[in-house]
Amino acid sequence: MSLLVVGSVAFDAVETPFGSREKMLGGSATHFSLSAGFFTDVRVVGVVGGDFGREELAVFEKHRIDTSDVERVEGGKTFFWRGRYDFDLNTAHTLDTQLNVFADFRPKLSDASRRSRLVFLGNIQPDLQREVREQVSGAELVALDTMNYWITTVPEAVKGAIRGVNVVIINDAEARQLAGEPNLIKAARKILSWGPMALVVKRGEYGAAMFTKDTYFAIPAYPLEAVFDPTGAGDTFAGGFMGYLASQPAIDEAVMRRAMIFGSVMASFNVEEFGTERVSRLTHAEINNRFQGFKKMTHFEAIPFERAAREAGKS
Ligand code: AMP
Repeated sequence: MSLLVVGSVAFDAVETPFGSREKMLGGSATHFSLSAGFFTDVRVVGVVGGDFGREELAVFEKHRIDTSDVERVEGGKTFFWRGRYDFDLNTAHTLDTQLNVFADFRPKLSDASRRSRLVFLGNIQPDLQREVREQVSGAELVALDTMNYWITTVPEAVKGAIRGVNVVIINDAEARQLAGEPNLIKAARKILSWGPMALVVKRGEYGAAMFTKDTYFAIPAYPLEAVFDPTGAGDTFAGGFMGYLASQPAIDEAVMRRAMIFGSVMASFNVEEFGTERVSRLTHAEINNRFQGFKKMTHFEAIPFERAAREAGKS
């Protein structure tokens, strides 16, 4: 198996200015795996309660995502998150977080999972992320996501988890909060000083940026007129990013830059409908079309400044 994800598998209740859902399939591992599954084989480590039914499992099965490492606690309830978005769809307001079966979760990886080439530590309690990291010591690349909930409640544990990974994928506000630094460039430098070789910052409708010690790469978001529900956009981005990396024989800066585009392409689909609805029925042709669209959108012809000045009559 090439790509492993540990994260929340959840029921979400979400309200946006365009509608609401009281109970839909969600969670970081869910959004991630559905997205990454378009690029590579994905295995999920997580936990659900007895209320997690056949209908929900069928979504994973339809996309051939391996859920044999998803533990089921018959007497327990699945993780539940309730959130609201106002007109600024970049900001999720958490109204309720019920850890439920996640409160006592101890991830147990099968031998096949331990042999994964790439690993994504999705948004869960950071000590659990570290436990998983320790079980996949041979992985070629490990990435981590987190959120304000953990940065606020257990900041040292988040930093501890970050020290053990190669790539951090978080959103703009979280990067600033984590580093305790309002300037994003300085925040990025600080986070990289803890050990990771790359930091990917998700910036909602403004796109995404990747920082390494020596390079900076930024892309816009795909321009969409209809955004319904941003829930899961971050994990869907990470799924496209990591899924594409896993599909490549070797990982270098050029591959990582293309992975950023695939991440953005996948996230752009996710926000068009509620929860997993849109990504669930996506096709490869649709993904490719938007990938090509990105290429056109960001292409420009570089000309020497002397020529520009000459054409403007300034030299
Ligand atoms: P995002 O991709 O950042 O929009 O994350 C969306 C998913 O994160 C939702 O489907 C929620 O179920 C999940 N989520 C929200 N809060 C937490 C938390 N504290 N721990 C783990 N997962 C969470």
